[in-house]
Amino acid sequence: MQEIKVELTKNPKEKPAPGAPLPFGTIFTDHMFIMDYDLGQGWHDPRIVPYGPIEMEPSAMCLHYGQSVFEGMKAYRAVDGRILLFRPDKNMARLNVSNDRLCIPQIDEKFAEKAIEKLVSIDRDWVPSGEGASLYIRPFIIGVDPHVGVHPAHHLMFMVICCPVGAYYPEGLNPVKIYVEKNYVRAVRGGMGYTKTAGNYAASLKAQDEAEKQDYTQVLWLDGVERKYIEEVGTMNVFFVIDDEVVTPELQGSILSGITRMSCIDMMRHWGMKVTERKISIDEVARAAQEGRLKEAFGSGTAAVISPIGHLKWGDVVMEINKGEIGPVSQKLYDTLTGIQWGKVKDEFGWTVEVQ
Ligand SMILES: *Cc1c(COP(=O)(O)O)cnc(C)c1O
Repeated sequence: MQEIKVELTKNPKEKPAPGAPLPFGTIFTDHMFIMDYDLGQGWHDPRIVPYGPIEMEPSAMCLHYGQSVFEGMKAYRAVDGRILLFRPDKNMARLNVSNDRLCIPQIDEKFAEKAIEKLVSIDRDWVPSGEGASLYIRPFIIGVDPHVGVHPAHHLMFMVICCPVGAYYPEGLNPVKIYVEKNYVRAVRGGMGYTKTAGNYAASLKAQDEAEKQDYTQVLWLDGVERKYIEEVGTMNVFFVIDDEVVTPELQGSILSGITRMSCIDMMRHWGMKVTERKISIDEVARAAQEGRLKEAFGSGTAAVISPIGHLKWGDVVMEINKGEIGPVSQKLYDTLTGIQWGKVKDEFGWTVEVQ
């Protein structure tokens, strides 16, 4: 394995006071990880350096053509003071899936995971300890060739930055209001929907903006072809509890394979629940709601963990789900996942990795 050079900051920043508000993604730690790629040379010069601006030319390809991928993961300060990562191998594996789609050279997943552990270890005092707070970790790769021309980059940068974040919903696990998006689509099969790439989020901004103006938290995306089958919610995967079956859209190329999603599926199956990954149409959900068989709906993702949906609007159809309250399945998943992540519940799945 390549050695990671470390240059520690001479000007450590002041850390947020315990209990101070930590708005998501606005405060960055003292250090960052960088590694370069050059055609013919491969990934080289891994280093941890003080956090700060990077230099690139205005012609850098990522600025024009969106050749960029990212990941989102967290480090948790366990109740006993240890620092834990949650299934970091899955994030690195998914990064390579995104890389493949975007013609970005593969990274050494084990090495990248070690690099992240080293960075978190150096910035360990930045991992907050407040209720629901964590250190959000953002690995990303960008093509930086100074070349205004569409082709895969020959020079790229892999970087990791970290920010202490507070609980996603400071008021606690409150059900959110979501509407079904009818005008815009996020991704289609054959496109990049299954990757974490910048363009997917650019495609979602307008819908998100319109939803917020109408006092909705996020939108529920339908498939881009028939506008009928459910895909995901904003930046979360989605689950529906109908009768005694838990249904989540199958991974068919246009939705992201969430690590929270796969963990929820594993846990529920472990608990003996019936979980089905299949196509599910919005009509089916509306019918189940009308017949009183839609018991719960919730989103899953690293940022919010579990986000119960209490109100779902599809055109003129408004579904109040579980009387707008948190259901037992959402609550149990939330409690178990956060319990494992913060070291309060025994990690019987072996999902956590301690940062030394
Ligand atoms: C990141 C993300 C998710 C959730 O993935 P996790 O690995 O659970 O955090 C779901 N949908 C989209 C579009 C995402 O970007």
